[in-house]
Amino acid sequence: MNPHPFVSFLQEFEPKLEKKTNQLNKALWILETTGSSDAAELKAELDVEWRLLHNDAETYRRLLEWDKDPSLKDPLLKRQLDVLIRAFKENQIPKELVEAMAEKEAALAETYANFRPQLRGKDLSENELRELLKNEEDPAVRKEAWEASKEIGTILAPQILALVELRNQGARHLGYLDYFEMQLELQEVDRETLLALLDDLGKRSNEAYRKTLDKVIEKLCDRFHVEKSDFGPWAWSDPFAQEDPLDTHLLDQLVEDVDIVGTCKKYYQNMGFDVGSILEKSDLYERPGKNQHAFCMHLDRRGDIRTLNNISPSIKWLETVLHELGHAVYETGFDKELPWLLCEPPHMIPTEAMALIAGRQAYRKEALPDLVGEGKEKLIALADESLKRRQLIFSRWVLTMTKFESELYRDPTQDLNALWWKLVEEHQMVPAPANREGKADWAAKYHISLAPVYYFSYLLGELFASSIQESVEKETKSKNLNSKAAGRLLQERLFAPGNRWSWSELIRFTSGAELTPDAWLREFA
Ligand SMILES: [Zn+2]
Repeated sequence: MNPHPFVSFLQEFEPKLEKKTNQLNKALWILETTGSSDAAELKAELDVEWRLLHNDAETYRRLLEWDKDPSLKDPLLKRQLDVLIRAFKENQIPKELVEAMAEKEAALAETYANFRPQLRGKDLSENELRELLKNEEDPAVRKEAWEASKEIGTILAPQILALVELRNQGARHLGYLDYFEMQLELQEVDRETLLALLDDLGKRSNEAYRKTLDKVIEKLCDRFHVEKSDFGPWAWSDPFAQEDPLDTHLLDQLVEDVDIVGTCKKYYQNMGFDVGSILEKSDLYERPGKNQHAFCMHLDRRGDIRTLNNISPSIKWLETVLHELGHAVYETGFDKELPWLLCEPPHMIPTEAMALIAGRQAYRKEALPDLVGEGKEKLIALADESLKRRQLIFSRWVLTMTKFESELYRDPTQDLNALWWKLVEEHQMVPAPANREGKADWAAKYHISLAPVYYFSYLLGELFASSIQESVEKETKSKNLNSKAAGRLLQERLFAPGNRWSWSELIRFTSGAELTPDAWLREFA
């Protein structure tokens, strides 16, 4: 019997895709570690070539035909077909539209990269602004800095709205209501289900958040010597009230004498994961020209896994190194018999869940003595309290972001700044300051324009992380992750399936139930 035509197609197509993907990843790694303009150019070219591999209309038509063919039964083949159909579908948007979007995105990226808020005649870098919001005690200076950080919103809003319009045109061309719905469906997420889940989470954590917020307001009003009625977004330690603003500097004392890389390596070793070769290939410390943030990359889906960090002696970097290595060990764990195309997580949600649950250990009272040494009980208790606040505060921020994006794409002509502050007040309970009419504070958030429809994955990852935490506790009878038994459980029930199933099927396999906020609420609210 002849093989199914889809099998023949895969035999020819997959090596081409693998080669192009590897080239693209390599260029991206060089770009992120050096900031080289040659690498940027090469990466942009390879991006186009990667897209072109997925835009042939005739191939797309054949893929859709095979999808209806009842003789194609093998589940791994069907899953590969499904992955390819979604990749091709996204690239069936007319070429002119794709080019126009890419041009707008590049221009926006450049403006964001070069924008420096001005404070009293001085340019502030992003790090300087963050340091100021952490350390400055004078509310007047803080207010000015906060307002300066929003200026870019007013400058960029018209360009972002033009991009939103193009994205919606592309989505409608493919038969979607709008871009938000398209992005979700291509990621196997249903809009109504997602929004209902977030509503449920919001309602059931409302009381806990309000209590946490009361404490935050009380402490910050004390610190800045202002009345509660004068409390505003300028009092937080970041421009969007998305992070826990209390005790941040105190907690850095936890890692003062700690070798962050060494302690993380040992932590994973205790779980049965050797991350030595990953760390050797990783780019760990600050350098000019290098990306300021952190990420993990699997360059070839055949074991070349690296992380990028900018480690400094702070609790944030202990958390981040644990987090990125969480992504890394996930990538080492796919079933050996999976085809190349399925050697990846089915979505950001499960790999974020692994990274987040690892990062949380930097704040958990059960895990910290192993990570930072004994005799720091007071600080460890503060860190454990901070973890709860961080979870509650971040969850409200994701509600604001996700609901705003859903509305932005549904009707971009509405008064978006009024909508933004209505959502901030409703979910984060941070009152809008006076004089924000006519501004575009929503447009100051980078992710709105350049990492759209993305934030929800972090929150769903947090929910899943809590349900994994419960599974680990149940099976290992310990709250700690750093045991061989916990490592085995993660390996077998989370990493091994790769992209064999959709993310929601994987979650059922890992935790035995649908994703709900229940475990997260039990842990933090
Ligand atoms: Zn991550």
